[in-house]
Amino acid sequence: MPTSQPRRARGIRGERFAVLDPATGEAFEEAPDQQPDELDAVVGRAHEAWRSWRSDPVARATALLAAADAVEAAGADIAPLLTREQGKPLAESYAEIARTAARLRYFAEMAPGPQSIRDGRPVRSEIRWRPLGPVAAIVPWNFPLQLASAKFAPALAAGNTMVLKPSPFTPLATRLLGSVISTALPEDVLTVVTGHEPLGARLASHPGIRHVTFTGSIPTGRAVAEGAAASLGRVTLELGGNDAAILLGDVDVERIADRLFWAAFRNCGQVCMAVKRVYAPARLYSDVVEALAQRAKTAVVGAGLDPGTQLGPVNNVPQLARVERYTAQALADGARAVAGGHRLDRPGYFYAPTILADVPPDSPVVTEEQFGPVLPVLPYGSLDEAVEAANDTGFGLGGSVWGTDLDRAEVVADRLECGTAWINHHAELSLAQPFAGIKESGVGVAGGLWGLYGNLRPFVVHRPEEA
Ligand code: NAD
Repeated sequence: MPTSQPRRARGIRGERFAVLDPATGEAFEEAPDQQPDELDAVVGRAHEAWRSWRSDPVARATALLAAADAVEAAGADIAPLLTREQGKPLAESYAEIARTAARLRYFAEMAPGPQSIRDGRPVRSEIRWRPLGPVAAIVPWNFPLQLASAKFAPALAAGNTMVLKPSPFTPLATRLLGSVISTALPEDVLTVVTGHEPLGARLASHPGIRHVTFTGSIPTGRAVAEGAAASLGRVTLELGGNDAAILLGDVDVERIADRLFWAAFRNCGQVCMAVKRVYAPARLYSDVVEALAQRAKTAVVGAGLDPGTQLGPVNNVPQLARVERYTAQALADGARAVAGGHRLDRPGYFYAPTILADVPPDSPVVTEEQFGPVLPVLPYGSLDEAVEAANDTGFGLGGSVWGTDLDRAEVVADRLECGTAWINHHAELSLAQPFAGIKESGVGVAGGLWGLYGNLRPFVVHRPEEA
């Protein structure tokens, strides 16, 4: 069995840690194992860089547009590295890079000018939106670049500087991305730090950091919020999800099956807003299970660098262990694995795409976030029952409703308790829309204009009409 964590020797400055290829389980590169006490200097430099970065929105926009070009130009270097450390098919790594460049362009020129507000009295108030200062971003390993760019593009466009910490499972593509972007920006505007805990905890609680924007699991999100509370820093938390897909009685199963399958299995199911539970009307239950199982059996599983691969390995050993544990528990609870249900007999962290039928609703694969290539399908009797089951969770990220009558589907979608509800789709996001999980899935709003304002503070000048 490969090691569960990247290997390293502790406590020596200048130390590096091994990065593993999940398609082989072998180390293939190293990254700097930065220590928490290095952050004082890093944050200090980010503060220095902020003094001029905040002052000229036109120069900022020009630099961010140049950064977008640089990212695209470096795509052929970054994409294979991302696939190697993360496991995803190469085309999906290129998609992350394209999304990163698009985000830089989208936010580059968006910094708001002054706004006048009036309330009928002879007073003129003007809001001047000001950046916050050095901010921190902490991201997970499932979409290292895309999630980082969702944080740095609005933060830098707003006039902040940023210290960005990727997961130690996927530090390399982010480091390369950071150095590519830095060719277009003044020094220390964007700094990537890599290493193990307590590096992230120290960054989240650093007194020089004005806003911590975090994506990851709910327990870590809680720790980040506690850490930031010490300096009363602002936090935005994008946390786990357990999205339900409800299929309506008029759904055309064959028509939606591909879309539904990939909404659950893209990126090997390691997507915060993947479909993680399917509710199908009892009358269509066996058709839905069969349609999904057939796709699970024929999906091409392999190394992300192999042409033709549709589904890569699970990213890391703890995550693979979670997938195995939840599946074993479901099978022990009486579920049937209609497809998959086991690891693949080959090196690396490969797990067969798995469709589970007859799963008890209280089995952890239904109630918790599996975050892997395993999908439970549950039958329902009445629609009210399905909506209640979909909402009966501490998670509240997304959800979807699938059917032929779109108006009816929309009425059902409106009843979902989550941040985003899709119809006949799942996990599609526009750069312009707000993204906000509810309940334990998040705090604050990312995306679009809302994400930009999350990186700004209102400074108000209040003056009378006459002296
Ligand atoms: P994680 O919480 O273990 O780690 C996320 C990041 O936090 C990593 O960079 C990690 O090194 C760092 N970290 C770990 N301990 C920390 C601490 N005490 N203080 C500060 N930082 C710390 O999550 P993961 O396993 O990397 O990612 C999977 C989770 O992320 C899933 O729950 C998934 O749903 C969630 N996720 C959410 C979204 C969203 O937008 N809502 C998007 C992607 C992933």
